[in-house]
Amino acid sequence: MNKRGRLMIVSGASATGKDTIVSKVIERYPDEAVLSVSMTTRSPRCGETDGVDYFFVSEEKFEENIKSNKMLEFAKYGENYYGTPIEPIERWLEEGKIVFLVIEVKGAALVRKRCPEAKSVFVLPPSMEILESRLRSRGTEDEETMRVRLEIAKDEISRADEYDYIIVNDKLDDAVDDIVTICKYEQHCESRDEQAAEKLKKCKMMNFISEVMKK
Ligand code: 5GP
Repeated sequence: MNKRGRLMIVSGASATGKDTIVSKVIERYPDEAVLSVSMTTRSPRCGETDGVDYFFVSEEKFEENIKSNKMLEFAKYGENYYGTPIEPIERWLEEGKIVFLVIEVKGAALVRKRCPEAKSVFVLPPSMEILESRLRSRGTEDEETMRVRLEIAKDEISRADEYDYIIVNDKLDDAVDDIVTICKYEQHCESRDEQAAEKLKKCKMMNFISEVMKK
Protein backbone atom coordinates (compact mmCIF):
# COMPACT_ATOMS: atom_id res chain seq x y z
CA MET A 1 0.00 0.00 0.00
CA ASN A 2 1.19 3.55 -0.77
CA LYS A 3 2.40 5.78 1.99
CA ARG A 4 -0.10 8.63 2.30
CA GLY A 5 0.91 11.74 0.38
CA ARG A 6 1.25 15.24 1.72
CA LEU A 7 -0.18 18.67 1.06
CA MET A 8 2.58 21.18 0.33
CA ILE A 9 1.41 24.78 0.43
CA VAL A 10 3.52 27.32 -1.47
CA SER A 11 2.82 31.04 -1.05
CA GLY A 12 4.64 34.22 -1.95
CA ALA A 13 3.91 37.64 -3.31
CA SER A 14 2.72 38.08 -6.88
CA ALA A 15 5.63 37.68 -9.36
CA THR A 16 7.99 35.97 -6.89
CA GLY A 17 8.13 33.07 -9.33
CA LYS A 18 6.40 30.51 -7.12
CA ASP A 19 4.38 29.01 -9.99
CA THR A 20 7.51 28.54 -12.09
CA ILE A 21 9.39 26.95 -9.19
CA VAL A 22 6.59 24.48 -8.49
CA SER A 23 6.15 23.58 -12.16
CA LYS A 24 9.90 22.84 -12.39
CA VAL A 25 9.66 20.58 -9.32
CA ILE A 26 6.76 18.71 -10.90
CA GLU A 27 8.69 18.41 -14.20
CA ARG A 28 11.47 16.69 -12.22
CA TYR A 29 9.12 14.37 -10.31
CA PRO A 30 6.06 13.87 -12.53
CA ASP A 31 5.09 10.57 -10.86
CA GLU A 32 5.40 11.79 -7.30
CA ALA A 33 4.18 15.38 -7.35
CA VAL A 34 1.03 17.01 -8.65
CA LEU A 35 -0.28 20.57 -8.84
CA SER A 36 -3.79 21.41 -7.70
CA VAL A 37 -5.50 23.56 -10.35
CA SER A 38 -7.32 26.39 -8.59
CA MET A 39 -10.62 27.98 -9.41
CA THR A 40 -10.87 31.75 -9.88
CA THR A 41 -13.26 34.46 -10.89
CA ARG A 42 -10.48 36.58 -12.44
CA SER A 43 -10.30 36.81 -16.23
CA PRO A 44 -7.75 34.67 -18.04
CA ARG A 45 -4.49 36.42 -18.95
CA CYS A 46 -3.10 36.15 -22.44
CA GLY A 47 -1.82 32.58 -22.87
CA GLU A 48 -3.74 31.08 -19.93
CA THR A 49 -5.89 28.03 -20.57
CA ASP A 50 -9.04 27.05 -18.72
CA GLY A 51 -8.52 23.81 -16.78
CA VAL A 52 -4.72 24.10 -17.01
CA ASP A 53 -3.78 27.41 -15.37
CA TYR A 54 -7.07 27.82 -13.53
CA PHE A 55 -10.70 26.85 -13.79
CA PHE A 56 -12.09 30.23 -14.79
CA VAL A 57 -15.65 30.61 -13.50
CA SER A 58 -18.25 33.28 -12.81
CA GLU A 59 -18.75 34.70 -9.33
CA GLU A 60 -22.12 32.96 -9.20
CA LYS A 61 -20.59 29.56 -9.96
CA PHE A 62 -17.80 30.12 -7.42
CA GLU A 63 -20.30 31.01 -4.69
CA GLU A 64 -22.37 27.93 -5.57
CA ASN A 65 -19.24 25.79 -5.06
CA ILE A 66 -18.61 27.40 -1.68
CA LYS A 67 -22.19 26.70 -0.57
CA SER A 68 -22.02 23.07 -1.64
CA ASN A 69 -18.69 22.54 0.20
CA LYS A 70 -16.71 21.86 -2.95
CA MET A 71 -13.76 24.05 -1.91
CA LEU A 72 -10.96 23.01 0.44
CA GLU A 73 -10.28 26.72 0.98
CA PHE A 74 -10.97 29.99 -0.76
CA ALA A 75 -10.10 33.66 -0.34
CA LYS A 76 -10.57 37.01 -1.98
CA TYR A 77 -7.41 38.46 -3.50
CA GLY A 78 -8.06 41.98 -4.77
CA GLU A 79 -11.52 41.85 -6.28
CA ASN A 80 -11.51 38.17 -7.19
CA TYR A 81 -12.19 34.83 -5.57
CA TYR A 82 -9.53 32.11 -5.67
CA GLY A 83 -9.97 28.63 -4.24
CA THR A 84 -8.86 25.00 -4.20
CA PRO A 85 -11.39 22.44 -5.51
CA ILE A 86 -11.53 19.66 -2.93
CA GLU A 87 -12.48 16.83 -5.28
CA PRO A 88 -9.14 15.42 -6.52
CA ILE A 89 -7.14 16.12 -3.35
CA GLU A 90 -8.08 13.10 -1.23
CA ARG A 91 -7.47 10.73 -4.17
CA TRP A 92 -3.99 12.15 -4.79
CA LEU A 93 -3.12 11.88 -1.10
CA GLU A 94 -4.29 8.25 -1.08
CA GLU A 95 -2.04 7.64 -4.08
CA GLY A 96 0.89 8.93 -2.04
CA LYS A 97 1.44 12.10 -4.07
CA ILE A 98 2.87 15.38 -2.90
CA VAL A 99 0.05 17.77 -3.73
CA PHE A 100 1.19 21.35 -4.33
CA LEU A 101 -1.23 24.16 -3.50
CA VAL A 102 0.13 27.46 -4.81
CA ILE A 103 -2.12 29.83 -2.90
CA GLU A 104 -2.15 33.17 -1.08
CA VAL A 105 -1.73 33.60 2.68
CA LYS A 106 -5.37 33.67 3.87
CA GLY A 107 -6.20 30.44 2.05
CA ALA A 108 -2.95 28.91 3.30
CA ALA A 109 -3.98 29.64 6.89
CA LEU A 110 -7.33 27.92 6.29
CA VAL A 111 -5.63 24.81 4.87
CA ARG A 112 -3.25 24.63 7.85
CA LYS A 113 -6.21 24.75 10.20
CA ARG A 114 -8.20 22.16 8.27
CA CYS A 115 -5.25 19.87 7.45
CA PRO A 116 -2.65 20.27 10.22
CA GLU A 117 -0.37 17.72 8.56
CA ALA A 118 0.12 20.07 5.58
CA LYS A 119 3.55 21.67 5.27
CA SER A 120 4.08 25.17 3.99
CA VAL A 121 6.78 27.14 2.19
CA PHE A 122 6.92 30.89 1.70
CA VAL A 123 8.88 32.16 -1.31
CA LEU A 124 10.54 35.56 -0.89
CA PRO A 125 11.89 37.73 -3.67
CA PRO A 126 15.56 38.78 -3.27
CA SER A 127 14.35 42.36 -2.59
CA MET A 128 11.23 44.49 -2.95
CA GLU A 129 12.89 46.36 -5.84
CA ILE A 130 13.41 43.13 -7.73
CA LEU A 131 9.83 42.09 -7.00
CA GLU A 132 8.51 45.34 -8.43
CA SER A 133 10.64 45.09 -11.54
CA ARG A 134 9.57 41.45 -12.09
CA LEU A 135 5.94 42.50 -11.76
CA ARG A 136 6.44 45.34 -14.26
CA SER A 137 8.38 43.26 -16.77
CA ARG A 138 5.63 40.62 -16.73
CA GLY A 139 3.41 43.28 -18.28
CA THR A 140 0.17 41.48 -17.41
CA GLU A 141 -1.24 44.11 -15.01
CA ASP A 142 -2.19 47.74 -15.37
CA GLU A 143 -0.64 50.36 -13.07
CA GLU A 144 -3.46 50.30 -10.50
CA THR A 145 -3.55 46.49 -10.28
CA MET A 146 0.24 46.50 -9.87
CA ARG A 147 0.00 49.03 -7.04
CA VAL A 148 -2.61 46.87 -5.27
CA ARG A 149 -0.46 43.76 -5.78
CA LEU A 150 2.59 45.44 -4.27
CA GLU A 151 0.53 46.47 -1.24
CA ILE A 152 -0.78 42.91 -0.87
CA ALA A 153 2.82 41.67 -1.29
CA LYS A 154 4.02 43.62 1.75
CA ASP A 155 1.12 42.33 3.78
CA GLU A 156 1.81 38.74 2.67
CA ILE A 157 5.54 39.00 3.44
CA SER A 158 4.69 40.17 6.96
CA ARG A 159 2.97 36.79 7.44
CA ALA A 160 5.88 34.68 6.18
CA ASP A 161 6.69 33.54 9.71
CA GLU A 162 3.44 31.51 9.74
CA TYR A 163 5.15 29.11 7.32
CA ASP A 164 7.29 26.04 8.10
CA TYR A 165 9.96 27.07 5.60
CA ILE A 166 11.04 30.28 3.94
CA ILE A 167 13.13 30.30 0.78
CA VAL A 168 14.41 33.08 -1.48
CA ASN A 169 13.95 32.93 -5.23
CA ASP A 170 17.23 34.50 -6.21
CA LYS A 171 18.28 31.81 -8.68
CA LEU A 172 15.49 29.65 -10.05
CA ASP A 173 17.45 26.36 -9.97
CA ASP A 174 18.45 26.93 -6.34
CA ALA A 175 14.85 27.64 -5.34
CA VAL A 176 13.74 24.44 -7.12
CA ASP A 177 16.45 22.49 -5.27
CA ASP A 178 15.27 24.00 -1.98
CA ILE A 179 11.71 22.82 -2.50
CA VAL A 180 12.91 19.35 -3.54
CA THR A 181 15.02 19.16 -0.37
CA ILE A 182 12.03 20.15 1.76
CA CYS A 183 9.74 17.60 0.08
CA LYS A 184 12.25 14.77 0.47
CA TYR A 185 12.79 15.65 4.09
CA GLU A 186 9.09 15.88 4.90
CA GLN A 187 7.98 12.90 2.85
CA HIS A 188 10.77 10.43 3.44
CA CYS A 189 12.67 11.95 6.36
CA GLU A 190 15.91 11.23 4.51
CA SER A 191 18.54 11.99 7.06
CA ARG A 192 21.06 13.21 4.46
CA ASP A 193 18.69 16.09 3.70
CA GLU A 194 18.02 16.89 7.30
CA GLN A 195 20.70 19.54 7.66
CA ALA A 196 19.79 21.25 4.41
CA ALA A 197 16.10 21.30 5.34
CA GLU A 198 16.85 22.70 8.78
CA LYS A 199 18.77 25.53 7.16
CA LEU A 200 15.70 26.51 5.22
CA LYS A 201 13.57 26.87 8.32
CA LYS A 202 12.06 30.15 9.15
CA CYS A 203 14.20 32.25 11.49
CA LYS A 204 16.87 32.58 8.79
CA MET A 205 14.95 35.20 6.84
CA MET A 206 13.46 37.27 9.62
CA ASN A 207 15.92 40.13 9.01
CA PHE A 208 14.80 40.39 5.42
CA ILE A 209 11.15 40.48 6.46
CA SER A 210 11.66 43.22 9.00
CA GLU A 211 13.61 45.23 6.37
CA VAL A 212 10.67 44.96 3.99
CA MET A 213 8.24 46.00 6.70
CA LYS A 214 10.23 49.14 7.49
CA LYS A 215 9.70 50.44 3.92
P1 5GP B 1 -2.87 35.44 -9.92
O1 5GP B 1 -4.03 36.35 -10.23
O2 5GP B 1 -1.56 36.18 -9.98
O3 5GP B 1 -2.86 34.20 -10.75
O4 5GP B 1 -3.04 34.94 -8.40
C1 5GP B 1 -3.20 35.87 -7.36
C2 5GP B 1 -2.91 35.17 -6.04
O5 5GP B 1 -3.89 34.17 -5.77
C3 5GP B 1 -1.55 34.46 -6.02
O6 5GP B 1 -0.94 34.71 -4.77
C4 5GP B 1 -1.94 33.01 -6.13
O7 5GP B 1 -0.98 32.14 -5.56
C5 5GP B 1 -3.23 33.00 -5.35
N1 5GP B 1 -4.04 31.80 -5.62
C6 5GP B 1 -4.07 31.06 -6.75
N2 5GP B 1 -4.91 30.03 -6.59
C7 5GP B 1 -5.40 30.12 -5.33
C8 5GP B 1 -6.30 29.32 -4.56
O8 5GP B 1 -6.82 28.30 -4.98
N3 5GP B 1 -6.58 29.74 -3.31
C9 5GP B 1 -6.03 30.86 -2.78
N4 5GP B 1 -6.36 31.16 -1.52
N5 5GP B 1 -5.17 31.62 -3.46
C10 5GP B 1 -4.86 31.26 -4.72
